[in-house]
Amino acid sequence: MQTAGSDNKTTSKPHWVNAEITYQCPLHCVFCYNPVDYAKYGPELTTDEWLRVFREARELGAVQLGLSGGEPLQRKDVEVLVAETTKMGYYVNLITSGIGLTEKRIAAFKEGGLGQIQLSFQDSTREMNDFLSSTRTFDLKSKVAKLIKQYEYPMVLNVVLHRLNIDHIGQILEMAEAMGAEHVELANTQFYAWAFENRKHLMPSREQLERAERITNEFRDRVGNKMKVYFVVPDYYADRPKACMNGWGAVFLNVTADGMALPCHEARMLPLEFPNVRDHDVRWIWEESPGFNAYRGDDWMQEPCRTCPEKTKDFGGCRCQAFMLTGDATNADPVCDKAPAHHLITEQVALAQKPQPPASEVKQVILFRDDKNSRKLATRDSTTPIS
Ligand code: SF4
Ligand code: SF4
Repeated sequence: MQTAGSDNKTTSKPHWVNAEITYQCPLHCVFCYNPVDYAKYGPELTTDEWLRVFREARELGAVQLGLSGGEPLQRKDVEVLVAETTKMGYYVNLITSGIGLTEKRIAAFKEGGLGQIQLSFQDSTREMNDFLSSTRTFDLKSKVAKLIKQYEYPMVLNVVLHRLNIDHIGQILEMAEAMGAEHVELANTQFYAWAFENRKHLMPSREQLERAERITNEFRDRVGNKMKVYFVVPDYYADRPKACMNGWGAVFLNVTADGMALPCHEARMLPLEFPNVRDHDVRWIWEESPGFNAYRGDDWMQEPCRTCPEKTKDFGGCRCQAFMLTGDATNADPVCDKAPAHHLITEQVALAQKPQPPASEVKQVILFRDDKNSRKLATRDSTTPIS
């Protein structure tokens, strides 16, 4: 059996574990990466179940652990998870909207050895931040940013960019600088899950994107090494797909709130049987489960990927994107300009160059991530956008 990027399954290890410890979240982001049908999934893993999973993954070679969600701070046991997993030898990263991060909790995290806190903002303006998350959280996040500095954590800010906020890029970078951020990730929206539902409202135009990249580069020149700024270009404006997760089942293990083990955040959408950590140990999941072996190696590939010299670089792109857009996960990712379905990308890009309704109108029709919408989407039997 082959693994992506290697010849033998025993050489690949789940170095990086991401634990979506809850799907609960007080925010309602229009680009949320949680499955659109999250509301239908069963009970969250208990503290003991999580710790068993982390122990088993560590024995298999995992070194980095991300605690994410939903909003991970909705759970009361994050302090225990942090303290126990750092003792196991993990470097632990908390990925949070900041909601629920009190001084008492951050002090406990420091004591427990938490390595890093990544804080997300939706925008540099209160109005857009609060609109995009459908909450009044801008001021709270600003307070949390101060707490993170006070407790001497490196300031790692994440801002998801899209059509509605990308023109504020200069102000977003200034906000990051004023907060003393050391790392800023400007992640252009990738169109999965809730962002896919809202794709036509969130896709930036080429002009917007080029302007944002130019301003980011000017900012980098000005601040130098003081701040590392990552600008993640959206797939739709590339002509080659990303090497998704460094290959299927190669280094990354995602575990959902209800215990499903996945080779990437979005794989739950695929028509595959993925194992649950309640039923299997992590070693079996990683090495033996059909889901984790489905797209290792290249036997599964169709043309043009099968005979393409670039297949060892990008592994044919993202299986989820191929499935979402073409209905077959073994197709080449349509982002690739060699893919027969590439027109599905260029058509969307062409649409994004046309004038769009003003933000005030978009606000009326955009789909927010909330339980009601999730229950509605859970009853749908196709991936056709409903927005
Ligand atoms: S993207 Fe927004 S709604 Fe989704 S989990 Fe993160 S903070 Fe919550
Ligand atoms: S044809 Fe397939 S392997 Fe080749 S560059 Fe495109 S996606 Fe990658």
